[in-house]
Amino acid sequence: MINRRALLRAGILTGGLLTGAASASTAVFARTAQPSSTAPDQRPATPDEAWATLREGNRRWVDGTVTHPHQDAARRKEVAQKQDPFAVVFSCIDSRVSPELVFDTGLGDLFVVRTAAQTIDPLVTGAAEYGPAELGTPLVVVLGHQRCGAVTAAAESLHDHKKLPGELDTIASALRSAYKRSGGDVDKMIRINTIDVVKQLKKDKLFAPRIAKGRLKVIGAYYSLDTGEVTRLV
Ligand SMILES: [Zn+2]
Repeated sequence: MINRRALLRAGILTGGLLTGAASASTAVFARTAQPSSTAPDQRPATPDEAWATLREGNRRWVDGTVTHPHQDAARRKEVAQKQDPFAVVFSCIDSRVSPELVFDTGLGDLFVVRTAAQTIDPLVTGAAEYGPAELGTPLVVVLGHQRCGAVTAAAESLHDHKKLPGELDTIASALRSAYKRSGGDVDKMIRINTIDVVKQLKKDKLFAPRIAKGRLKVIGAYYSLDTGEVTRLV
């Protein structure tokens, strides 16, 4: 997988040069795109480096010193033919928790998967699997957040035994276990659910062997709407 990833990163597989690359010179491996002018271009390679980069970006967001990296035409050109994001962020759909903003990242940096209250099912898990399994993305962050409306609505529905309309009730069902263990405390329920999702993803059959080899980490974190700070939960 590392070899495949290296080839993908070099643009060889995606560039269709593989057949001619067997006896090719190192020139084949040269990046054709120019690095973006907005940020140093060393993609975090390990889970810990990836988390450190997200933490640094979040610190800028909290402090109001964002640099908006990778958001210019040079970056667009650089990633147009290939991508190599360094993390998957799986967050709620909440309009105030946009991962690229709260981690001060840009184009081609993150795979972003979003559902209400970051609840999962096989389709969503498949979306989260893509980066780690196909491109060697080293980190998955499950991001819960303060005052989650989906969790609040689910807690009320479960408390009152009143079904939510449409498929909203499917979300409430997915949160039933967290609700029971939270004692009705919404903030606790948000944190429990986030950790539950991390546990489920860690058992994923594509993730587990990568985690065991140290190539992937799946972590849970909590976003404060008030301060903008992301705090690691697990
Ligand atoms: Zn939410």
